[in-house]
Amino acid sequence: MAFDFEMIKRVYAGMHSKVEAARKTIGRSLTLAEKILFSHLHRDQPLQNFERAKTYVNFAPDRVAMQDATAQMALLQFMQAGRPTVAVPSTVHCDHLIQAKVGAKEDLDTALSVNKEVYDFLASVSNKYGIGFWKPGAGIIHQVVLENYAFPGGMMIGTDSHTPNAGGLGMIAIGVGGADACDVMAGLPWELKWPKLIGIKLTGKMSGWTSAKDIILRVAGILTVKGGTGAIIEYFGEGADSLSATGKATICNMGAEVGATCSLFAYDDKMSIYLRHTAREDVAAAADAIKQHLRPDDDVYANAEKYYDQLIEINLDELEPHVNGPFTPDLAWPISKFAEAVKANAWPEKLEVALLGSCTNSSYEDITRSASVAKQAIDKNLKAKAEFTITPGSEQVRYTVERDGLLDTFDKIGGVVLANACGPCIGQWARHIDDTNRKNSIITSFNRNFAKRNDGLASTHAFVASPEIVTAFAIAGDLTFNPLTDKLKNENGEEVMLDEPAGYELPPKGFAVEDPGYQEPAKDGSNVQVVVNPESQRLQLLAPFSEWEGTDLKGLRLLIKVKGKCTTDHISMAGPWLKYRGHLDNISNNMLIGAVNFFNEKTDLVKNELTGEYGPVPVVQRAYKEAGIGSIVVGDENYGEGSSREHAAMEPRHLGVRAILVKSFARIHETNLKKQGMLALTFADKEDYDKIQEDDTIDILGLADFAPNKALAVVLHHDDGSSDVISAHHTYNEHQIEWFKAGGALNIIRRKFAK
Ligand code: SF4
Repeated sequence: MAFDFEMIKRVYAGMHSKVEAARKTIGRSLTLAEKILFSHLHRDQPLQNFERAKTYVNFAPDRVAMQDATAQMALLQFMQAGRPTVAVPSTVHCDHLIQAKVGAKEDLDTALSVNKEVYDFLASVSNKYGIGFWKPGAGIIHQVVLENYAFPGGMMIGTDSHTPNAGGLGMIAIGVGGADACDVMAGLPWELKWPKLIGIKLTGKMSGWTSAKDIILRVAGILTVKGGTGAIIEYFGEGADSLSATGKATICNMGAEVGATCSLFAYDDKMSIYLRHTAREDVAAAADAIKQHLRPDDDVYANAEKYYDQLIEINLDELEPHVNGPFTPDLAWPISKFAEAVKANAWPEKLEVALLGSCTNSSYEDITRSASVAKQAIDKNLKAKAEFTITPGSEQVRYTVERDGLLDTFDKIGGVVLANACGPCIGQWARHIDDTNRKNSIITSFNRNFAKRNDGLASTHAFVASPEIVTAFAIAGDLTFNPLTDKLKNENGEEVMLDEPAGYELPPKGFAVEDPGYQEPAKDGSNVQVVVNPESQRLQLLAPFSEWEGTDLKGLRLLIKVKGKCTTDHISMAGPWLKYRGHLDNISNNMLIGAVNFFNEKTDLVKNELTGEYGPVPVVQRAYKEAGIGSIVVGDENYGEGSSREHAAMEPRHLGVRAILVKSFARIHETNLKKQGMLALTFADKEDYDKIQEDDTIDILGLADFAPNKALAVVLHHDDGSSDVISAHHTYNEHQIEWFKAGGALNIIRRKFAK
């Protein structure tokens, strides 16, 4: 089920009629993103005129990919659905939990022992439910997906922000939270706000030191970290077709850094060649046969301004290599201006560590071009002055570059090869540094460079550049060096220059791998036991939430009246709590600890109405739960904004909170609450927020007639014997009301499969 060519054939078979129908309905030519979106509408979603409508639309993605950290709760929830197998081909990738410390082998061994219970769980749950499992060391999710699963014209969701990497093979691939992944694997539709479109026309052709990374570094400088929000970015033009598929993937990967929903390139010969080199001749042939649907209509290229909300043009003939940073990926410096910026801002000039790799830049092309720079260091008697690490993106790439002698080249200039995993890119890096407060500089070919991201140190200035520029800087050890113009002094005291990098898009001898690290799921998983140690502190099997009792909710206590901003991070904090993300009861000890209590302006200190004493929010809520008393959380505007983390909805549900009543919700969080069987309500009159008093006992009435667009009554019984009756709105549709009644959306699916 992990790789499913039959599925791809089905998608392609249906594409023609769906694209034609959409073109007819809309009455104009279509961009590529529109063709893919229209051909993935969920069967329950009528084809309407979506053009520029700010509509939430139901889709049916073809695939799901999950990384090991986020897969845990997604799969624990999926188990609640009671399905024998996942509804769409899905994979799990063990890449985020491996800490880089010494080198590939030792670090992998340590991770296997430290994370054993998580890996055992993920391997067994994958085996049982038809999910492809990529073991620790197999590679980074996005590189493995590109090499094995991405296909032109497809739609995928993945529980990781850089899922859009697969746009390099012409796929709409979008990063989501675990709850969305769970829904799609369970067979539910997936909802997305119809995106805006940004067109980026690439003219000319790159040469010399410039590479695909520099295109996205330049785009980040233009759009900034928010400029792509809610949009799909489509690249086109002669410059687009000249880029390798992996170069395209680099650009799509970092679209996440401008906030884009995803990024996309049209199907071309480069993609066809890549598919054939990665043992997918059948997919290439099938894509060739429907090529016209895997590229925009002709008029889109001819009159691009008519089709895109925003249009940007970049001339690759003139594009310089870029270095972006520090602390944000949109601070873009052309290399000719970078040294000046380093000096003007007093950033540490000495480069301490150069890090090559990550899901963004670890293709064969990246590594050969970087190795060509490293080889010159050997030939010209130069030594790498900075520490230098190399993270291959997959075992297939690692094995192939080792076979071709490239790892040996890095080794000769002091490079250390790390495990095929995220490592320093996600802060899994035991960095050796004498003084953690000393301002210092590092450069990476990764994507994100926010403070503390790589090594947890606020003092580290992290810059982002292409792999070949990172390698040149590793050799120079100095951020004011410009490899295009400057000379370096070698071991003999002679001045030498580095020549332009050269490499291969794809291995001339083909890819090779001995053990790719893949576990095929059982054909029939019905007898496979999912491995979870009942004593585990990191994993806990979920029990289904209970159904609605069929009555109004009376006698609820006010747990907290939140003042001001309350993001999902205030509701379920990250940091040290992330290790419990597979253990609902343990992680619930962070519930709402970041929210400010209206009555005392303090965080994590609320009144326990049973004792009259103040205590931490989770402790007080557990006391209510134990006493069999429901509670309610009251919130301000845009409650639950931020990441889509499902824990923020599951924790209150688990601890017995019955309703969240706020001035307004962030939409994704509101939906997550509904999916968990919670009541998500808004004040009909926002000023009623002021009527909520600390000692109130609260009733929610009208649930027997719970219906779309029908308000519920909320009675506030105040401590002085008086009361207020206020009105609460909701946005539940018929389906969602059924979720509430059943105690959660997954309970409904489970009932269906239990029949
Ligand atoms: S390599 Fe970095 S960006 Fe890529 S998936 Fe891992 S943590 Fe995310």
